[in-house]
Amino acid sequence: MDKLSIIVPCYNEEEAIPIFFPAVEKVVQQIYGLKTEYWFVNDGSTDNTLNKLRKVHSMHPEQVHYISFSRNFGKEAALYAGLQAAQGDYVVVMDVDLQDPPEFLSEMYSIIKSDDYDCVGTRRVDRNGEAKFKSFLSNQFYNVINKISQTNIVPGARDYRMMTRQMVDAVLSLKEYDRFSKGIFSWVGFRTKYLDYHNVERVAGETDWSTWKLFKYAMDGIADFSQAPLSLAVWLGTFSFIASIIGIVFVIIRRLVEPSSSVFGWASLVCLILLIGGLQLLCIGIVGKYVGRTYMQSKHRPIYIIKEKQ
Ligand code: UDP
Ligand code: MG
Repeated sequence: MDKLSIIVPCYNEEEAIPIFFPAVEKVVQQIYGLKTEYWFVNDGSTDNTLNKLRKVHSMHPEQVHYISFSRNFGKEAALYAGLQAAQGDYVVVMDVDLQDPPEFLSEMYSIIKSDDYDCVGTRRVDRNGEAKFKSFLSNQFYNVINKISQTNIVPGARDYRMMTRQMVDAVLSLKEYDRFSKGIFSWVGFRTKYLDYHNVERVAGETDWSTWKLFKYAMDGIADFSQAPLSLAVWLGTFSFIASIIGIVFVIIRRLVEPSSSVFGWASLVCLILLIGGLQLLCIGIVGKYVGRTYMQSKHRPIYIIKEKQ
């Protein structure tokens, strides 16, 4: 019998948990020859999530486990903790809000069993029910990152995916502190099949991802999987250097040809100083982003801290 580990990050999901568990159980019990274990990860929730998890655990002590963090470490850390704890031959990662339809589990399992694939992911083909501006930003993000990164980031791909043990071990071997899962799952390689589906709204509770938070997440993803912004700094520097050489030559020639004209140009001078100052700050900022990541990595801090585990 194969064992499937189901990893579920939860942050303030007291309402979703009691709906999620029976919904998934209904599907997996239909799958022949499959045994399941659950790893719920309570990512420092401030509501009753932990009590809900304790309750499900006490009803199914062998099958349902939970890890509770000492504070909110973020979904990426929760996923990592779950992957580390999972014992199964196959591992699936899914959200607790039922935006990742459990009906896919049996199809995922039969595809992954067929040996042709090491991973079955899911991809949203639309974003109904999401703000237009948010969808626009995320489309732009996929355009940009796929142009400047070697790692292919599949547009609309969710974290919802089933993986073989071999792939899970590969994902765990990446010990980086700033974990951008969408990139990591793709970076490790292996053959992945994507199942398409239409966006489903949250079953309960509210999303924690504001547009601003998503934007920062996207910027972090770019810094994690591309060095193109660093080259941008080099190109901007080169360009303004060449422009300044041309400017100097121009000024000297003008001075020689028409000595009286040198008092003009104060306004343009101020604009140039501002422009170059701005470019310099931008480039320092870009470099700083990478230095900051190196700094965090060099501290070797743990990715999460567990307070309670069952
Ligand atoms: N989540 C988490 N830690 C966080 C934020 C979210 O573990 O800091 C979990 C959350 O409980 C849910 C999943 O990650 O199971 C996805 O979150 P959400 O539904 O808010 O994101 P969306 O589906 O809108 O991308
Ligand atoms: Mg969700």
